[in-house]
Amino acid sequence: MECLFCKIVGGDIPAAKVFEDEAAIAFHDLHPQAPVHLLIVPRRHIASLAHMGGADEDKALLGRLLDAARRIAAQQGLAHGYRAVVNTGEDGGQTVSHLHLHLLGGRAMEWPPG
Ligand code: AMP
Ligand code: ZN
Repeated sequence: MECLFCKIVGGDIPAAKVFEDEAAIAFHDLHPQAPVHLLIVPRRHIASLAHMGGADEDKALLGRLLDAARRIAAQQGLAHGYRAVVNTGEDGGQTVSHLHLHLLGGRAMEWPPG
C-alpha cells in the first residue's frame, strides 16, 4: 500500500485526527495554510475527484464529505465562514493522489486563488 492517506486511514502513519465516521476521517494538515486547515479524507481509496463515478454510492460519498466539512466547521467554531477546496489533478495543484477536501478557516480568504 503506497498511498499516504491510505496509510493515515489505516493508522500506519500518525495524524492529528479531529473527526471520523464510517466513510471518512479528518485531520490537521501538516503544513497549515490558515489557522484552521483540516483535510477530510474518504476511507476508500479514490485517486481524485475526476476518478469518481456517477454511481449513487459515489454521489452519496461526495455528499458525505461536504456534510462532514459543514459539521467540522461548526465544531471548530468557524462562525465567520470558511473555505472548502478539492484540488484535482495537475492543474488543480493536487499533490496527494487520494481524494481529499481541504477545510480552511480562521482568517479571511482571498479571491482569486493562486
Ligand atoms: P493537495 O496538494 O491538495 O494534494 O493536498 C495535500 C495536502 O496534504 C497538503 O496540504 C499537505 O500539506 C498535506 N500533507 C502531506 N503529508 C501529510 C501528512 N503526513 N499529514 C497531514 N497532511 C499532510
Ligand atoms: Zn489512498
